[in-house]
Amino acid sequence: MRAFLDLVFPPRCAGCDLPGTLLCDRCRAAVPRIDPASACSRCGAPVTGVSCAECAGRTFAFRAARSAALLEPPVSRAIVVLKDGGERRYAAVLASLLAEAADGWLGQGDVLVPVPASPAARRRRGFDHALDVTRALGTLTGMPVAEVLRSKVTADQRTLGREQRAANRAGSFDVTGEVTGGRVVLVDDVFTTGATLDAAARALIGVGSPTIRALSVARACSRATPAEVRA
Ligand SMILES: [Zn+2]
Ligand SMILES: [Zn+2]
Repeated sequence: MRAFLDLVFPPRCAGCDLPGTLLCDRCRAAVPRIDPASACSRCGAPVTGVSCAECAGRTFAFRAARSAALLEPPVSRAIVVLKDGGERRYAAVLASLLAEAADGWLGQGDVLVPVPASPAARRRRGFDHALDVTRALGTLTGMPVAEVLRSKVTADQRTLGREQRAANRAGSFDVTGEVTGGRVVLVDDVFTTGATLDAAARALIGVGSPTIRALSVARACSRATPAEVRA
């Protein structure tokens, strides 16, 4: 299937448009990775000073967060091409960045729980990108995936502003199954305000999941989210 797709729709690098690859070696090396050693353990943002300006004054239901990279090219482009271009082969590329970033952070007993897209977005795209990424991460790491969250959002996130989006998604998840094994690691594509992951974590805490962490491909910092990757 993969070979067939490559033949019919030859991929192009999300960074430099080089044909024949989804992300060339040069652009992969240039991914703006976030060094976990100098990142905020609460929200995953890179921290330059003593404290984290990104999450100051905010409370999260998840205990810790990690993001693989900043929401900048080529990662931001790869996410757009996956989500809105329907290029699902990027799920594995993004999952490989997650696996690198979460090396030593994920461990025995962790269960990967994808943060589901809104029903409207899922209908529009025909698939759930975060689910694709989470499954690919499960395949890469051998970790279990539990699809136990369901989004209750009905408004199309694209029509809303940043704050409205956060409010729209907050408190908007149902838990549809049980997470056996215990330690939940939520997986999403972008961490912007943390409101979506917080809502997902709260839903799981509500049914008794004790330890929840949040893993995302990209961290949008300092209110500089590119409009193209919204919703
Ligand atoms: Zn490239
Ligand atoms: Zn922080």
